[in-house]
Amino acid sequence: MARPLHDPTGEFAIVLFDPTIDNRQYDIPNKEEEGGPKEDEPEKSQEVVKIDRPVMHKSLAEILGLKKVVEERPQVPVVIDPRLAKVLRPHQVEGVKFLYRCTTGLIDPLANGCIMADEMGLGKTLQCITLMWTLLKQSPDAGKGTIQKCVIACPSSLVRNWANELVKWLGPDAITPFAIDGKATKEELTMQLKQWCSATGRANVRPVLIVSYETLRLYCDVLRDTPIGLMLCDEGHRLKNGDSQTFTALNALNVQKRVILSGTPIQNDLSEYFALLNFANPNLLGSRAEFRKKYELPILRGRDAAGTDEQRKKGDECLKELLTLVNKFIIRRTNDILSKYLPVKYEHVVFCNLAPYQKDLYNHFLQSPDIKSLLKGKGSQPLKAIGMLKKLCNHPDLLDLPNDLPGCEKYYPDDFVPKEARGRDRDIKSHYSGKMLVLDRMLASIRANTNDKIVLISNYTQTLDIFAALCRSKNYGHLRLDGTMNVNKRQKLVDKFNDPEGSEFVFLLSSKAGGCGLNLIGANRLVLFDPDWNPAADQQALARVWRDGQKKDCFVYRFISTGSIEEKIFQRQSHKQSLSSCVVDSAEDVERHFTLDSLRELFMYQANTTSDTHDTFKCKRCRKEDGKQILKAPAMLYGDTSSWNHFVNLEGEKGPLAKVQDVLLQDETKHKEVSAVFQYISH
Ligand SMILES: [Zn+2]
Repeated sequence: MARPLHDPTGEFAIVLFDPTIDNRQYDIPNKEEEGGPKEDEPEKSQEVVKIDRPVMHKSLAEILGLKKVVEERPQVPVVIDPRLAKVLRPHQVEGVKFLYRCTTGLIDPLANGCIMADEMGLGKTLQCITLMWTLLKQSPDAGKGTIQKCVIACPSSLVRNWANELVKWLGPDAITPFAIDGKATKEELTMQLKQWCSATGRANVRPVLIVSYETLRLYCDVLRDTPIGLMLCDEGHRLKNGDSQTFTALNALNVQKRVILSGTPIQNDLSEYFALLNFANPNLLGSRAEFRKKYELPILRGRDAAGTDEQRKKGDECLKELLTLVNKFIIRRTNDILSKYLPVKYEHVVFCNLAPYQKDLYNHFLQSPDIKSLLKGKGSQPLKAIGMLKKLCNHPDLLDLPNDLPGCEKYYPDDFVPKEARGRDRDIKSHYSGKMLVLDRMLASIRANTNDKIVLISNYTQTLDIFAALCRSKNYGHLRLDGTMNVNKRQKLVDKFNDPEGSEFVFLLSSKAGGCGLNLIGANRLVLFDPDWNPAADQQALARVWRDGQKKDCFVYRFISTGSIEEKIFQRQSHKQSLSSCVVDSAEDVERHFTLDSLRELFMYQANTTSDTHDTFKCKRCRKEDGKQILKAPAMLYGDTSSWNHFVNLEGEKGPLAKVQDVLLQDETKHKEVSAVFQYISH
């Protein structure tokens, strides 16, 4: 008697395959074992498939000699393991169904792959683990799995993370992954991989191989002939370059089903589309040349300003056809759908005035001969100057004074102690920086009044040094993660911080430490101390705390020095985000994107504003005379801060800022450093 592994009528049963509905099109299990890649299939003309698909498919099964498997055994439902079904959120159930249908040929019998591009925080990992576990354990053929082996390819920093996630969701006894974390020698590893390749049936005790892209590339030859049922490619946007070594190596493996995971939206770039989809579903779009002829050229011709109406029409048609095809295999949901399950997130842009000493140094630098020649188009190092101003915004101690700013000695405050004369921790003067002073007060208040934890993020490890010294001087328990740390150590640190019993309430994180997927839900507050050119980098940082598993309301603060270069960076960032088009990825891009005019703007200090950014909005909801918001926006749009709530810090504890829904910011009404706040409320 053929029985499904899990009861399809159970209270929480989620059925992925129902033989009464899906059987006609089903992709026959264990095809990978036959070693029959797509090349062996007979030529198919699109028209024939359209007219007579079921018959065509039947004969395909016959040709491959697989037909009998289907006929001899009745099919059973495929049902998500209840231990996973009970933790999946509704959107994740939808995601798993999508993954299952794509990878088993239920969407298109010619395709066995797809792209999972959900935004960070939606649980891509869990959805993919559910798919993998289902395919390993079940198929419509009772008692058999759909696949025997799975490879998870990811950046090396995530290998351990994936292994942990498997245990977290499936329990310690379900699966022993083979995670290659770089400890074995070349000989040992070759041997282990050969064993992994040859293991079948009961000997196949570690069916899941977790490996970095680099290692996979190096050992591609060892793995080449082994049938791999499923390959998950995490951070898979690196495959967007179809000519890269990684792409070529992975493509050479004998893989039946492929899923690309990517949190980065796929850009409106045809060759990127082609490369990713062509990797997930080889041959679906034809060869590169065919794709170019059929889609790319007509689309580009249609976009050409000199093109004829006919060409434009043809281009639109081709684009529509391509998108229809492509969208069948891409799933992309944004964080908005999470609102239902997550606590409220209050996100703030906190504009902080420069401290008096900081302001003196800032103006002094802007008046310096270096900057003056730069603005005449003569200087050669705008990036260096930008870097210095950014550092100065964080804290004057980040500069090497007086060497960096000759002649600045006259601004030294009375309590100034030269760096070389200082003790290790004693001389962190937070009042030398507006932002640092606000942070100092926030930490003290969190410590005194709450049991909240907080993540502090900066682009500069030097800033983290100052945070650390500040914490030491006040006896705040803190942990620090930066780029030099190995993966095991990282995970330990994260676990320690997330432990509710842990005494460390501050987590210091470098935004350059990478650490995609780093989960810091032990904290419900987060400070992004300085803005990055790249909005995606900031978004990644912000997704650390407001994500699955978070129980408390979250408070996010993006610090910006009022009137300074940081406002300009922030403004460019918002601009990019609302266009969501090309993203500035590197320092060279920054240099290339700045004309002399924009440099002049960058090196201007707006001394008499509460927020230069707000000034640029020409906001009609706030009163001209005192800046008080008198009208709420009809809807808050996350990507558009002009639609957020606007607060100015005037009239102290009776002023507008006292109404903000956060005690830490309310407290700032007693002080002058915070000049204005933008606030976004998730739901
Ligand atoms: Zn306003």
